Amino acid sequence: MATSLTDADKRKQISVRGVAPLEGVDDIKEAFNRHLHFTLVKDRNVATSDDFYSALAHTVKDNMVGRWIRTQQYYYEKDPKRVYYLSLEFYMGRTLTNTMVNLGIQEQCDEAMYQLGLNIEELEEQEEDAGLGNGGLGRLAACFLDSMATLGLAAYGYGIRYEYGIFNQRIHDGWQTEEPDDWLRNGCVWERARPEYAVAVHFFGSVQNENGDWQKPSKWRNTQAVIALPYDTPTPGYGNNVVNTMRLWSARATRGFNLNLFNTGDYIQSVFDRNIAENISKVLYPNDNFFEGKELRLKQEYFVVCATLQDIVRRYKSSKFGCRDSVRTQFDQFHEKVAIQLNDTHPALAIPELIRLLVDVEGVAFDQAFEITKKTCAYTNHTVLPEALERWPVKMLENMLPRHLQIIYLINARHLKDVAKAFPNDSSKLREMSLIEEDGEKRVNMAYLAIVCSHAVNGVAAIHSQIIIDDTFKNFYEMSCRLGETNKWQNKTNGITPRRWLLLCNPSLSQAITDKIGDDWHLDLTKLRQLEEFASDKSFIRQIAQIKQENKERLASWLSQSQGIKIDSKAMFDIHVKRIHEYKRQLLNALHMVHLYNEIKNNPDGDFTPRVIMVGGKAAPGYHTAKKIIKLINSIADIVNNDPIIGDRLKIVYINNYRVSTAEKVVLLFCFSLLLFEKVTPACDLSEQISTAGTEASGTGNMKFMLNGALTIGTLDGANVEMSEELGGKNIFIFGMKVEDVEAMDKKGYNPQDFYNGSPNLRRALDQIRAGLFSPKQPDLFSGFVDDLLKWDRFKVCADFDAYVTCQEEVSQLYKDEDEWTRQCIMNVAAAGKFSSDRTIHDYATEIWGCEPSPGQRIPGPSDAHPGTEE
Ligand SMILES: *Cc1c(COP(=O)(O)O)cnc(C)c1O
Repeated sequence: MATSLTDADKRKQISVRGVAPLEGVDDIKEAFNRHLHFTLVKDRNVATSDDFYSALAHTVKDNMVGRWIRTQQYYYEKDPKRVYYLSLEFYMGRTLTNTMVNLGIQEQCDEAMYQLGLNIEELEEQEEDAGLGNGGLGRLAACFLDSMATLGLAAYGYGIRYEYGIFNQRIHDGWQTEEPDDWLRNGCVWERARPEYAVAVHFFGSVQNENGDWQKPSKWRNTQAVIALPYDTPTPGYGNNVVNTMRLWSARATRGFNLNLFNTGDYIQSVFDRNIAENISKVLYPNDNFFEGKELRLKQEYFVVCATLQDIVRRYKSSKFGCRDSVRTQFDQFHEKVAIQLNDTHPALAIPELIRLLVDVEGVAFDQAFEITKKTCAYTNHTVLPEALERWPVKMLENMLPRHLQIIYLINARHLKDVAKAFPNDSSKLREMSLIEEDGEKRVNMAYLAIVCSHAVNGVAAIHSQIIIDDTFKNFYEMSCRLGETNKWQNKTNGITPRRWLLLCNPSLSQAITDKIGDDWHLDLTKLRQLEEFASDKSFIRQIAQIKQENKERLASWLSQSQGIKIDSKAMFDIHVKRIHEYKRQLLNALHMVHLYNEIKNNPDGDFTPRVIMVGGKAAPGYHTAKKIIKLINSIADIVNNDPIIGDRLKIVYINNYRVSTAEKVVLLFCFSLLLFEKVTPACDLSEQISTAGTEASGTGNMKFMLNGALTIGTLDGANVEMSEELGGKNIFIFGMKVEDVEAMDKKGYNPQDFYNGSPNLRRALDQIRAGLFSPKQPDLFSGFVDDLLKWDRFKVCADFDAYVTCQEEVSQLYKDEDEWTRQCIMNVAAAGKFSSDRTIHDYATEIWGCEPSPGQRIPGPSDAHPGTEE
């Protein structure tokens, strides 16, 4: 049974390493009351939970600003190399708890709220998620900010302050519908507008070249300007007093925007039209691993890049190193002071933009500008799916960014000379490797642009980095080898921050670990290896099993509140949460559900391991197949969950948003998927990581579950491969085709029909779905879907079905042996150390950015802080 300790009680027992209380409980209470009174203009009688949340958030923020100012002053004094992480997404989630954890003031805040008669967990639940991301790529950027600050790097995250983040998903009659995510409705405590650093961003217009020479400093005229207004959010390191900055840009119309209309007298219309400019930062495009090619998206990509590079160059010039006293700033050492990391090609326009600034504004010669840019920039590839690779039509660039298109052509000319040098007598390479694709509508291949102008290119897991050089960018890799570019092609296996993904989301497991091995693991996750020693210790096994059980009970009670579905918390929690995408194969899981259903129905008295299969995730609004998969899973759930023969042996839950009215307001339970991840991760027994081999670049969901002591069922894809290696090939359920098998099958010609004919279980499941067993009101709802699958099955669901089912049977067998299962869970936690984003960032810093991390080294605290310049 659950103990009577609340999360808050347990957290009180967790001591944060080496950080002395910075403010006493009384100070926190006083600051809290002051904010309630002066900032929120409320008293205790009329304050809402939201007011209490805000008062606490302000109080916690107060504890951070001294460190923030100090850190930025420190960077100004020391002038270390700056690292700029450019990303169209930062999936930050909630900030309050994370800030308390990193500042080491969680205990004091818990105690202060307790003394004030408030429940801190309830206040924490009031915070809106900052959902400025789609999935793994955006969450990675957020984990990196945590690790960069924790490692003491002078780093900045640069992105867009979307007014609407990732949509809220609701399920109506089994179908996904989308609602706008108005996350700024009640304001955001953590951000600070910085109008003094606003810059202009130009679009459209035309170019005037000197003597028609594109390489000469040129003028870009008759443009339409938009103002980029920065909002800064502090990103604290863990226990080291470092507070870095995430700067997100918001679009504002210029004063003179649409002056034409204004002059013709239509004042009202000219005010309305300011929206056109301000729409740039209105909404996050909700695609994960998919390129949509919309003009507004291109505007967003240029907007963030242009504003950010102006900021970077301004900071460089105003630094001590930037030779403020010489007439002209020296740029030949720019790359020794600035590293720019491109999170996928989304911000790849940073390349022509930096060259443009250097040539047209700073008067640097084109060839030198190219070399500086290349030494400064590095590119991370995140996917090999062709539909996700950005290829912008030349026409669109010519219209919106005419000077940048010229620069891209200049880069291409240089590049093609190098291609000819590397591949003499092979003219086919010129066509294959041109940055400009000529077949069909002319397009710029943004990955090729990023590769050619970066000194480092990396994949995000060992297998993915190998696929990139063997396949996706083979020509470019070969060219690097021939031209002697060593160390350009790298791997940086993704990671997750152990603060949010263990310390914060699973306090009881954290405490149990610390009781055994101390708390060094907070900053060196490889220390978890020491747990192996206790993996067979009966009392430790009991303790870990108990913690998992409590976490499951907590999730079960959430689910019964939010979905109205009663589940048995003793059953295996089999969890598959991530974006809905064909390559991630939620469909394979769905077919397994149908299979289990059939097995129980055929043998009602059989001995089955009870399972609750939970699936959750959002489909891109325009991705019809993904939406149909959601409907299919909900349809299967409807039949299975209401079949009395099945009972508690199989329950299927599609985790979705649900509105609950409390006394105060309507609350969305589980409406945000980052939150969903945080709630679900500690309670998972079995983690589903079943993408087709060769399609998932890395995955990070897999790591979160492993770190929290779930067992994984997965293919040898992405980081699963390295997880299996860390586990010595044991204590993980690997099944299905490997990359080589998939390739061989494609070569031979894949026919899903063969597997349908060869597998009675698969045939039965597909026939049932096709015939409408799970959609009785609309019997042909899924028939076209099944027919298409049997024709194409791009992601080889049919080919892997039998292996998956067999592997799941082994899972069910093992779950019956609770102690052995738990022992293997402990072995998973013990082997998860590699997957800390601290390790990932350490490797980026030393192998790509050329700067030295200083983990564990604290900078001066806030006590002697005094107000100064921001930078
Ligand atoms: C970690 C995370 C992901 C990535 O999950 P994968 O299984 O790697 O696709 C997606 N969304 C959210 C909210 C996450 O926290």
